[in-house]
Amino acid sequence: MKTKIADLEFEPLIRAKAIEERIKEIGSQLNADYKHCVPVFVGVLNGSFLFIADLIKQMDIPCEITFTKLSSYYGGTKSSLKIRDDIDFSVDIKGREVLIIEDIVDTGNTAHYLIEKLKTMQPASIKLCSLLLKPKALLKKIDELKYVGFEIENEFVVGYGLDYKEMGRNLKDIYKRVK
Ligand code: 5GP
Repeated sequence: MKTKIADLEFEPLIRAKAIEERIKEIGSQLNADYKHCVPVFVGVLNGSFLFIADLIKQMDIPCEITFTKLSSYYGGTKSSLKIRDDIDFSVDIKGREVLIIEDIVDTGNTAHYLIEKLKTMQPASIKLCSLLLKPKALLKKIDELKYVGFEIENEFVVGYGLDYKEMGRNLKDIYKRVK
C-alpha cells in the first residue's frame, strides 16, 4: 500500500518481518565474531535508532554502546557531501574493538568521515555494520564495511528510523520513493 509523506509518495520495499529476521542473523554473526572481547558499539543517530535498539537486543555477549550524531541529508533526498557532526565523541576507545552501527551507506561519505575520525583514537579495530547499502551510489570503497542487512537500488527510502523531512521514522516497514 502506498503512503504519502509531505510531498512525496512511497511504497513498501522491505517488510518488518524481513528486517527482524535479518537482524537476528546479523546478531548471531556478531555474537560469534566478538565473543573474544567486549566490543564498543557506536550508533550513528538519528536514522539508526531503531536498528541499534533491535540489534543490541540480539547480543548475548557483554558489550558497550555509545552514540554519535552525524547528518548529511538536511531533510532532503540527496546526500549533501557535507557532514554535520553534532555530538563530540567522548568515550575512550583506545585499544577497543569498535563496531559502527549505521542505518544506510549511500555515497559512503559519512562512514568514511567517522572511520577516519575514530582511527585517530587508536582503537584495536574498527568495523562497520549498516542495515542498508546502496552499492551503486558508493563513491569510495569502505574496507571496514563487514555487515550489511540489505543491498538496495539507488533510490530514496524512509521508515524504520529513516526520515523524509523528519517524518516517516515511525514506519515499521522500509518504503521506497515512487513519486
Ligand atoms: P552517505 O554519507 O553514505 O552518502 O549517507 C549517509 C547518510 O545519509 C545516512 O546515514 C542517512 O542519514 C542519509 N541517507 C542516505 N540515503 C538515504 C535514504 O535513502 N533515505 C534517507 N532517509 N536517508 C538517507
